[in-house]
Amino acid sequence: MRVSCTKAQTISTCGRLYQLRYEDRLESLMKSLALVIGRAIDTACSGYLLSHALGAPFDMKSVFDESLDTLLFKQQVRFPANWDADTARAVGHIMCDRFPEEWEKSHLVAAVDREGAPIVQRRLVVPLPNGHELEVVIDVVVMDLLTGEFAVLDLKTTSQGLSPESPFGYNAFQLTTYQYAADLAFAAFLGSMSNVGFMEMIKRVPAKTSRGKGPTVEAPRFYPRRSPEQINEMVRAYLAYIGDIQNRRFHRAINNAYNNPCDMCDFSRLCVHNDRTGITQRQSPHKAA
Ligand code: SF4
Repeated sequence: MRVSCTKAQTISTCGRLYQLRYEDRLESLMKSLALVIGRAIDTACSGYLLSHALGAPFDMKSVFDESLDTLLFKQQVRFPANWDADTARAVGHIMCDRFPEEWEKSHLVAAVDREGAPIVQRRLVVPLPNGHELEVVIDVVVMDLLTGEFAVLDLKTTSQGLSPESPFGYNAFQLTTYQYAADLAFAAFLGSMSNVGFMEMIKRVPAKTSRGKGPTVEAPRFYPRRSPEQINEMVRAYLAYIGDIQNRRFHRAINNAYNNPCDMCDFSRLCVHNDRTGITQRQSPHKAA
């Protein structure tokens, strides 16, 4: 069976959500603006990182605009209070100005594979025990130009950054997964990854005064390489999730009442009231092929 970090995170959040999203192939017709901005920024940043590694010019804002317009045109979008399409564009443009500035300061460059292609938005399928497979898409494998070390870096568009004291980055399952996959895919010619990290782009409404913060692009923040124990724990977690899926253990979320995923769930009306309004079914990949 093939799993991904996203699927594992979904089933660990709520088995019923996993079943609706991946077994029944349902999705909401309405997409959140956060998702739309995140995708458009990802496209622009990935293009920049590729061009930067190859020494080619790149117009981030044009790519962001094209991506944003396509996403806004092809689907219904849910806008939070104080946000509209113009605000989203303004936020994206500020990030497109600041991302290259921060990247130049970081002394990082996208590493290249054996064929000389920068390792950006790279889809990998690597083995798990018992014949299972893990599928990931890595934002970028970077080389530190000062030390020559390699690391996996995940770009995050978020409305709130991690505090410097947060332990999250040290434990993040996603980064552990990426280290595992990158080591298996690239260690033979790059060596093992030295560390793993996040680079945050924080969405805020543009500041009206010079004292306001507005959107920011933070410097990449790295965490120590995961230990063999953490990797083993991660592999065991994937095998447990695979067992849940194969045995169809799709129970509802068991989180504490004040830390529950239901309030944010696109399927809450379907789950609670059996109301399918605004829900559509994705085509089966077999039919699409
Ligand atoms: S509403 Fe809650 S229990 Fe139902 S699918 Fe969504 S997250 Fe799971």
